[in-house]
Amino acid sequence: MRVAQAGRLSNVRYDIRGPVLRRARQLEAAGHEIIKLNLGNPAPFGLDAPDDVLSDVVKHIPDAQGYSDARGIQPARQAVAQYFDRRGVPGVTADDVYLGNGVSELIVMALQALLDPGDEVVVPSPDYPLWTGAINLCGGHAVHYQCDEQNDWNPDLEHLQSRIGPRTRALVIINPNNPTGAVYSSEILLGMLELARRHGLVVLTDEIYDQIIYADAVHSPAAALAPDLLVLTLGGLSKTYRLAGFRSGWLVVSGPRADAADYLDGLELLANMRLCPNVPAQHAIEPALGGRVDITHLLQPGGRLRDQRDHAWAALTAIPGVSCYKPAGALYLFPRLDPEVYPIADDEKMMIDLLEQQHVLLSHGSGFNLPTTDHLRLVFLASVPVLDEAIGRIATFLSTYHQ
Ligand code: PLP
Repeated sequence: MRVAQAGRLSNVRYDIRGPVLRRARQLEAAGHEIIKLNLGNPAPFGLDAPDDVLSDVVKHIPDAQGYSDARGIQPARQAVAQYFDRRGVPGVTADDVYLGNGVSELIVMALQALLDPGDEVVVPSPDYPLWTGAINLCGGHAVHYQCDEQNDWNPDLEHLQSRIGPRTRALVIINPNNPTGAVYSSEILLGMLELARRHGLVVLTDEIYDQIIYADAVHSPAAALAPDLLVLTLGGLSKTYRLAGFRSGWLVVSGPRADAADYLDGLELLANMRLCPNVPAQHAIEPALGGRVDITHLLQPGGRLRDQRDHAWAALTAIPGVSCYKPAGALYLFPRLDPEVYPIADDEKMMIDLLEQQHVLLSHGSGFNLPTTDHLRLVFLASVPVLDEAIGRIATFLSTYHQ
């Protein structure tokens, strides 16, 4: 019997985990060692979670055997609310916090509760592609607004405005951005939020990298800048707290909740239907957000993430024909290969060729809903010697590569 996938998946793409990753698995199964710089997953790179967060979770395992409240355990939701208060978002209480199995689950829930078939959502290009995939999965239509590489990958506000139409329901902001590493100034954010205000859009803001900021960049929570708008802010433990495997995240509702009561009932219904998020992992939230965890030592000059960023950026941009914005936040470099030097028609194929020839696994730029094929994404979580080795191999590959 032939079993076909549901039609609703026909428009859903998640290419950054597609054929390139499958090929990497085949090569590994055949005994090859691959340098994997394709995933923002801190633990395999020796970036372990803080000990006291882990020990709190262990201590609470006996209390974590049953289902919790569908929105999550009270102390964790309280800790998230207090964190938002410290970040300048007014009036958030534990009742405004929904915990989930990672931001990934909460993105799908937030969109499922919002979208009717044909509704549009404006999303950045490039984006973290779960956003585009989830909008399409939920029957909506992802409409991309450009971020401008020449302007430090800031959103092009005129283009954003031109993408908003009568069916647009929501604006997605990813800040700090994956894959570009851009951190938006409050001026840019205020411009985006003004468009949301003018067109009555719900703001969905993915701020999972809000604490991973380099140099003098400052992260402003969108919810703090627009207390008059319905803003859903998403964050979690995967990156800052190096607990990606715990699958633990939060969605915080701020702004005029009364107008959104019907939507919030829908969100609650979906939260109830999945019973609750993983309970042991919820116990990591209070110690993580309670002010005990500080990651500035990783981000300051001499800090591991900062050094790796600087080193990888310098090595990549020393390759002829490769340019790159130096990321102000997050864990990624998103270099451009000058099409005059490297005429690449199929960037996914280029990633497979790199993998086969040099055993380095990266992600192709068009997998992030970029309309061109001249970018790739490299995760700089690996140590400097590993980054050196990988970027050396990329340089060797590019020196002879033709498509
Ligand atoms: N949002 C962004 C921008 C990401 O980069 C990622 C993971 O890379 C996620 C969400 C997924 O987060 P989680 O592990 O909480 O599902």
